[in-house]
This record gives sequence, structure tokens and C-alpha cells, in this order.
Amino acid sequence: MEDQLVWTLTPDGQFTTSSAYRLLVSEQPSSSNASVLFEGCEWENFWKFKWVCPTIMIFIWRALNAAIPTRNRLKKWIPNFDSSCPLCGTEGESVDHLFLNCSIGKAVWFGSELGVRSDRFKHFPDLISSWISLSPPVLSNPFQSYPLAFSLIWHPWLARNLAIFRGISWSPELIIEKA
Ligand SMILES: [Zn+2]
Repeated sequence: MEDQLVWTLTPDGQFTTSSAYRLLVSEQPSSSNASVLFEGCEWENFWKFKWVCPTIMIFIWRALNAAIPTRNRLKKWIPNFDSSCPLCGTEGESVDHLFLNCSIGKAVWFGSELGVRSDRFKHFPDLISSWISLSPPVLSNPFQSYPLAFSLIWHPWLARNLAIFRGISWSPELIIEKA
């Protein structure tokens, strides 16, 4: 019998986007990222953010779960792996570093029209939960700043990938422009 890939989340073994979506929704943010704000947040409301590309939503949900391949995470499996941040090179690359404390990431947040001081937040989920704690009508309002805010998380990740895989360096100004 030939080997074959089987998607275990549907009865017939066929991949469907709806089953993948249910899997992502069922993932709870890990306790290692827990904080006071984190525990009090109604995380199901994350999926009520409208006007944000699904790819970015799923990426950020994975980041909230510390389930993206940061270099700190890869280091656990790869001996002698250089875990330094590809954007600033000064610290290990974790979710909290990349999206809150990295000098490039901070410059992107603060230099954008949102003017966010990302280092006010201890953990990345604190930043997201501070938006979720607002009422659902705000979450679904396209004239609010959420599409830009989510894009300001996504684009430093793209910049980091470009730095690693193509040796291309984006300035904070360019990242803001792309977002
Ligand atoms: Zn950095």
C-alpha cells in the first residue's frame, strides 16, 4: 500500500479550510505567555476583527500562541543555532522581542501614524488583548486603525524573513511605508 498524507480533522481525510480554521480557533494561547491581562481577555473576540486579511489574522493568532518559527524557538531543536534577532541583532528573537522590544519594531510602532509605545506592554498578547477588550462594534469598524495595526505586526515579520532569506534590509521607514 502506498503512503499517503491524511488530514486527520475530517472524517474522509480530506483537507478543508473550515477544519483548519476550527483547529486554529481551538488553539488556546499558551500559558508560557500568560499575564494578568491575558487571562482576563475574551480571546474568541479576536476573530471579530474585520477588514484584516485572513493570512495576517492566522499569523498573529499563531504568534499569540508562540507558534511561529522565531529563532529562539528554533534554537531548542537546532544545536549551536544563532538565535539573534535578524532585524537588530542585539537580542534573541522571541515573539515578545520582535513585536514589542526590538529597536526596529519599536521604531515602526512609534513612527507610524498610530504612535504606539510597544515597550509599554510586557508580553505580545497584552498588546492584542488591549484592543480586544474594546467592544465588538469598534472591532468591526473599518475606519478604526486595526487593519494598519495588524499590518504593523505583519510587515516586520516580512522584513525579518527578507533579512534571513535574501539578505535584504528594510529600514523602519520602509516597513511603515509597506504596511
Ligand atoms: Zn530585534
